[in-house]
Amino acid sequence: MSKLTNDTRKQLRRRTRLVHAGRDPDQQFGFVNTPIYRGSTVLYPSVESLTTRDIPYTYATKGTPTTRALEEAWTELAGAADTVLAPSGLAAITLALLTALKAGDHLLVTDSAYGPTRHFCDTVLARLGIETTYYDPLVGADIAALFRPNTTAVLTEAPGSQSFEMQDIPAIAAVAHAHKACVIMDNTWATPLFFPPHEHGVDLAIEAGTKYLSGHSDLLLGLVSANRAWAKRLRNTFDAFAMCAGPEDAFLCLRGLRSMELRLREAESQGLALARWLSGRDEVLRVLHPALPSDPGHAIWARDFSGSSGLFSVILKPASSQAVAAMLDGLELFGMGYSWGGFESLVIPFDCSTYRTATKWAPGGPALRFQVGLEDLEDLQDDLDKGFARLKATK
Ligand SMILES: *Cc1c(COP(=O)(O)O)cnc(C)c1O
Repeated sequence: MSKLTNDTRKQLRRRTRLVHAGRDPDQQFGFVNTPIYRGSTVLYPSVESLTTRDIPYTYATKGTPTTRALEEAWTELAGAADTVLAPSGLAAITLALLTALKAGDHLLVTDSAYGPTRHFCDTVLARLGIETTYYDPLVGADIAALFRPNTTAVLTEAPGSQSFEMQDIPAIAAVAHAHKACVIMDNTWATPLFFPPHEHGVDLAIEAGTKYLSGHSDLLLGLVSANRAWAKRLRNTFDAFAMCAGPEDAFLCLRGLRSMELRLREAESQGLALARWLSGRDEVLRVLHPALPSDPGHAIWARDFSGSSGLFSVILKPASSQAVAAMLDGLELFGMGYSWGGFESLVIPFDCSTYRTATKWAPGGPALRFQVGLEDLEDLQDDLDKGFARLKATK
């Protein structure tokens, strides 16, 4: 077998890239995968190399062959200039924000952002003298009105956490760049497979690898990818923090990467099937899923995204909290828990009105978020069928 040349590599289609990215069997005695390199110290061959640091790895906080393999694979997949790993998705978000911001800056954050992102902005960033303004996720190009002379970053997330509003990322990015601000996006839901962030104007893209990259609910990891303009600053910030991911977790994410497209396609089809089934139920008021033509965000989704994943929400017709608890407590296949992207189905009740500040959340009934796993769809529907019977039987 001949070694893959860089020219061929550039021509590869996505599925082939997923198989080959971040692997060099020649460097691993012919073994297919890059193994787990554990370690802190790297030995230098001479005083000269200690001084010039001209060897590939200098200390494990800066990377190992395992972490670099994942970084390189993700960079290729995301169409980025560089990628750094963090010990969790949330750590990746904080790293991206601290790459873009300094004391005295003003930050714009979508009101639909992942809850813990808001917590970081309202506590740590506030203490550093960085002010956050939350904006309506549907703002589009009108975000221009919110810019101040010191606005240096805009955080986007599409679709929104729990509530699934689609954001017009290219329109927001155009305005942000006209103001020389950094565009940050939490792209965990679509992954670069369904939304290549840097092609749409995103400077720093975040992925919680904990979700679909891992795919098995057995690890925490985050990734931040950067375009050419932000790559150096991202790498410098990463080096300053040494907020690094563990070698086993990086290894498991490389393993997950190989089957990520297959798993995502299955999550998409299972998710759509369950969303359609739910939208036909008498107990359901609305389904929040941008890949459904009835969704208000569908046009943007269809324009910018090439697929959807298995996470969406539904709004039930008005019901008491006891009735919702009776429905959920008795489910046998849907677990109740945070996180998502694994092989197992989950459901959580949620209420965005407890934290939103720029927009009103009054959906008209109790809200549930579903993560659809790899179980047989009919078994999942049977479980929910019985759940709906409990909902109706409880006052
Ligand atoms: C889960 C999640 C994160 C955080 O990932 P962790 O690895 O759990 O810290 C960030 N953003 C979104 C949209 C998420 O759903």
